[in-house]
Amino acid sequence: MIAVEEALERILSHIRPLGSEKVSILDALGRVISEDIYANRDIPPLDNSGMDGYAVRARDIQNASQDHPVRLKVIEDLRAGFVSQKTLRTGEAIRIMTGAPIPNGADTVVPVEDTEKGSGIVSVLKALQPGQNIRRAGEDVKKGERVISDGDLIRPAEVGMLASVGRSSVAVYQRPLVAILCTGDELVDVDGEVGEVKIVSSNSYTLAAQVKDCGAIPVQLGIARDRKEEIREKLGQGLRADVLISSAGVSVGDYDFVRDVLNDLGMKILFWKVAMRPGKPVTFGTIDGKPVFGLPGNPVSSMVSFEQFVRPSLLKMMGHRRIFRPVIEAILKEEIRKESGRRHFVRASVTFEEDHYFVTVTGDQGSGILRSMVKANGLVIIPEDREVVRAGEKVKVQLLDRNF
Ligand code: AMP
Ligand code: MG
Repeated sequence: MIAVEEALERILSHIRPLGSEKVSILDALGRVISEDIYANRDIPPLDNSGMDGYAVRARDIQNASQDHPVRLKVIEDLRAGFVSQKTLRTGEAIRIMTGAPIPNGADTVVPVEDTEKGSGIVSVLKALQPGQNIRRAGEDVKKGERVISDGDLIRPAEVGMLASVGRSSVAVYQRPLVAILCTGDELVDVDGEVGEVKIVSSNSYTLAAQVKDCGAIPVQLGIARDRKEEIREKLGQGLRADVLISSAGVSVGDYDFVRDVLNDLGMKILFWKVAMRPGKPVTFGTIDGKPVFGLPGNPVSSMVSFEQFVRPSLLKMMGHRRIFRPVIEAILKEEIRKESGRRHFVRASVTFEEDHYFVTVTGDQGSGILRSMVKANGLVIIPEDREVVRAGEKVKVQLLDRNF
């Protein structure tokens, strides 16, 4: 049995980012870019107006006020997207809209609010400094500047920046295909006949959902009965994917054949059993360099071990820099007791009240109790050596809910 960190370290040292593929910028949302992006132009391209108002010469209005308006002759009406052919002379103004290029001769824009319109003239009611209300060429982005770097996550702002510099498609890291096999004679698919003894293979769906939630692509291999040949055949198919996950059959039961089969398939085993709860009998190895996870069958053990080991791996393959869930400190609302020796991940609900995070346990912590996972938005991390954590103590909580 090894520690959680040691297990993670062994796994991540065998995980490499995948290659890249070109996608449209909207499809790049949520993906990690695999190239540097340099601006091919100044943004904005020209000095332009930051306001709807009048382009003027600051010197002409240096004595303007409410009591002493300065009257200027309006020689043109300029909209955004057009360039004035005129040069502003003393005593003149050009009506200008936000975003329109500053005409020659003008050095300031007076907002409409500080003017009064007359017939063919405008009265300016306020003095301004040269340059006021003008947005400079290149003030957002300068030509040649790096605006996005290899490894950056593409969010809506990055999509907009890519569009601004004229990129309709970009290279991003590929998403791994993740094959999922569930094993067990007791399992049927969601529409199958459960009768009196069978149960639905919920792990087939939780695992696929967890894979999808990371941004990777689940490949459902279905259910294998507890027969070596059947498990071997299906796991063999799974090796066409980038990552292989098998669920259940990794404990020490008489029908737990998964490790035997993985062994037959040539898996280089890097560990079996981690000092954690739930999720102890997890195993990891590689077959021809391909990562293979043998997760425990109990629904919550399966989910929690996925969270700790598979999710960071998939994120690393997709080029993410931040591969771990955020961990916060919260005040525990009730006592938690456990045996020392293993790290516990306790299903819990975090709330934010009066400047502090508080956390309460969501019920029965049995590794088959999915209900307490449904109610949870986080996992309280209780260190290996602790036996009691009292109400009011600060604890670390791994946040599971991205919308928290
Ligand atoms: P095992 O590791 O095969 O001993 O399974 C441990 C427990 O997890 C048993 O109670 C199984 O019925 C349950 N289990 C195994 N696979 C699944 C699955 N795919 N969906 C839901 N429960 C499962
Ligand atoms: Mg089983």
